[in-house]
Amino acid sequence: MSARGRPDLGEDERRKLGRLFANRLGAQAKSADAPAPEPAAQGARPEATDFSTLPGYQELRLQRAMAAVVGLENPFFRLHETAAGATTVIDGKSFVNFSSYDYLGLNGCEPVRAAARRAIDLYGTSASASRVVAGERPGHRALEAALAAHYGQEDCVVFVSGHGANVSTIGALMGPKDLIVHDSFAHNSITLGAQLSRAERRSFPHNDYDALEDVLRTHRGAAQRCLIVVEGLYSMDGDSPDLARLVEIKRRHDAWLMVDEAHGLGVLGARGFGLFEAAGVDPREVDIWMGTLSKTLAACGGFVAGAQALVEYLKCMSGGFVYSVGLSPPLAAAAEAALALMRQEPERVGRLRAAGLCFLASAKAAGLDVGLSAGEAIVPIVTGNSVGAVALSQELFARGVNVQPIIHPAVPERGARLRFFVTSEHTREQIAFTIGAVGRAIEAVNANPALRDVCGFAQKG
Ligand code: PMP
Repeated sequence: MSARGRPDLGEDERRKLGRLFANRLGAQAKSADAPAPEPAAQGARPEATDFSTLPGYQELRLQRAMAAVVGLENPFFRLHETAAGATTVIDGKSFVNFSSYDYLGLNGCEPVRAAARRAIDLYGTSASASRVVAGERPGHRALEAALAAHYGQEDCVVFVSGHGANVSTIGALMGPKDLIVHDSFAHNSITLGAQLSRAERRSFPHNDYDALEDVLRTHRGAAQRCLIVVEGLYSMDGDSPDLARLVEIKRRHDAWLMVDEAHGLGVLGARGFGLFEAAGVDPREVDIWMGTLSKTLAACGGFVAGAQALVEYLKCMSGGFVYSVGLSPPLAAAAEAALALMRQEPERVGRLRAAGLCFLASAKAAGLDVGLSAGEAIVPIVTGNSVGAVALSQELFARGVNVQPIIHPAVPERGARLRFFVTSEHTREQIAFTIGAVGRAIEAVNANPALRDVCGFAQKG
């Protein structure tokens, strides 16, 4: 380490770093640069056995070195010392927290804790093995029945992961003769499931239904089955699709419509019932409702609600269900209790909506770029490059606000942002404090000579 606590970089790394900087910032890489040197040989084929030669790992090291050179710390993997919600404690210090999906403040609330405790006392902490072989617990069936009823569907199946639910469902349902068409902003778990299925995969520009129709007109005919996949509330941007239009399109093209409600449940609609309530569409019009238990439902896992044949099929054919352990009993109980509370206490949804709209209006009034956000719990502040997002996050952290930067490759480099998850428990005072802190954080980044030229922010004149 150098005297200033930054890592010393070798000549080769500096050269790579320069190139990376140039690429990241869209500047022209100098053509005189020599090609990146190969790592020192350690055997006949070191790249075959040395994990550190993986291209992704090298990129990661360089990104971290690049950040350290301009004085930025790693903003990820922070250790929280409490149940993180509207506030949190990190390293003994309190923060206003915008990095938790606990939209309705149900994580750790007493009825949810009590339900989880009861389940532990009765059934222990684990389901031990796949439900196919190790059998079920009452909580599995109760949760699935409650979710099926919520979506007006015949049945539901819960998985141990939301990500796994998408991968396993799409991967098991679709095959090489089929077509999958998804919004270009779709979550990684949707695109991975599509790849696993070996179906033809096409994306359409975000929320552009004319483009979706074009794709269907061109490719639907040759495909046996077709699946259209969208999200209820887009997690990077905070906007929603036009559900009524999608239902009409999928009907006309004999396709299934799948909606990932990971962020929609508990957030959208007057009672937080989700996209169908917000859109005034009968939930039975959608073929596959997918969601996670990890956000509003304060647990961990995923679900798919739909026709009885679909659920029965997934329970026998999707690897992530058949060959994976059943949801742990306390998590099933917590999710069921959280869903019941969401429905019994609609005032939580009202508080969430007010807080989200307050955040959006305050950010706009401060001249911040909030992208496409509708103010429904998710509000990005777009910085336009990854270094700027990390720098702003660090300055906010120093001012008592915990918010994560979203950087390339999770979003395009020009779309790098801070992403604020607002919850029902955030107060107007916390929001006003945060927006004020963003303004001061921007001034601090602009005043820092190491950062100004790399990621300085335009300021209001
Ligand atoms: N779908 C979407 C849209 C998501 O945002 C996420 C995770 N944030 C998932 C699926 C995966 O859910 P989980 O984290 O519960 O596995």
